[in-house]
Amino acid sequence: KDFPLPRSLSDRLAGRPARAVHALSGVTLEVRRGETLGIVGESGCGKSTLARCLVRLHEVDGGRVTYGGTDVATLTGAERRAFNRRVQMIFQDPYGSLNPRMTVRQILAEALSVHRMVPTARIPDRIAELLALVRLPSDAADRHPHAFSGGQRQRIGIARALSVEPEVLVADELVSALDVSVQAQVVNLLLELQERLRLTVVFVAHDLRLVRHISHRVAVMYLGKVVEVAPTATLFDDPRHPYTQALLHAAPSLDPGSRSRRAAARGELPSPIAPPPGCPFNTRCPHAFDRCPAEVPFLTSRGPDHVAACHLAAPRFESAR
Ligand code: SF4
Ligand code: MG
Repeated sequence: KDFPLPRSLSDRLAGRPARAVHALSGVTLEVRRGETLGIVGESGCGKSTLARCLVRLHEVDGGRVTYGGTDVATLTGAERRAFNRRVQMIFQDPYGSLNPRMTVRQILAEALSVHRMVPTARIPDRIAELLALVRLPSDAADRHPHAFSGGQRQRIGIARALSVEPEVLVADELVSALDVSVQAQVVNLLLELQERLRLTVVFVAHDLRLVRHISHRVAVMYLGKVVEVAPTATLFDDPRHPYTQALLHAAPSLDPGSRSRRAAARGELPSPIAPPPGCPFNTRCPHAFDRCPAEVPFLTSRGPDHVAACHLAAPRFESAR
């Protein structure tokens, strides 16, 4: 996916007020069929914006989202509806998106009817199958959303998304509002469903532990840019971008042994409205040099299936010491 024009710049050119968290710039990222791609970064880095662009909840200015090679902005009519069905978003707070006046049965029946997924006579059976799929008891169908715990509501949200037989699920901070023990249950359910239904999952989260657990590959974002993408084990064992290294340093429980070998980021997170020139991390990077504020680094290869956007050839803190 390509967004060559910085959103904040396009806003300024169009005379629109700047929208801090909406700035994405030079984001190029592919999501592969059947994988779980984790997207991590601090709040305000643009990961939610990116997720919303993927499902077309945000219009993309000066960029392109393609699906199976087709620019989704060019889809019309039936193709557009097919895309809307194939790519489903599941939200952090399903309570906000579940109609409190409807029972679970009505919520699922509505989703099934909108896309004419099954003949009307088949709807009750399909609802029972969906509830079993997300491990809710069959009597859940006749209760209202308020009768459920947060984790159960997430399962209802997942069942609703799955009711239209999507190919891609985009989950933005799916479990961050839940207790840790419940988080694991919902994430493990998603992992299981991903394998069983061969779903493609985009898992957006700030919790590195969860992202590591669920993702095949991970993309790290900083101030509206993707700064590193690698297979999960590579990213956590051998991060090449100084920001990724700092992010892992800030989460010592992930990797206690290597904390001392990685440098923390200095200073404050700059405003996403006006990111620093050149490399967006240059104001906080322990390895910044004269080229960094002068020139934007692009994603370049650091190994098999591993890219990072940094001017240092091999920016490992260990070797820089
Ligand atoms: Fe640090 Fe420079 Fe690399 Fe940016 S390009 S991460 S400032 S070394
Ligand atoms: Mg967010």
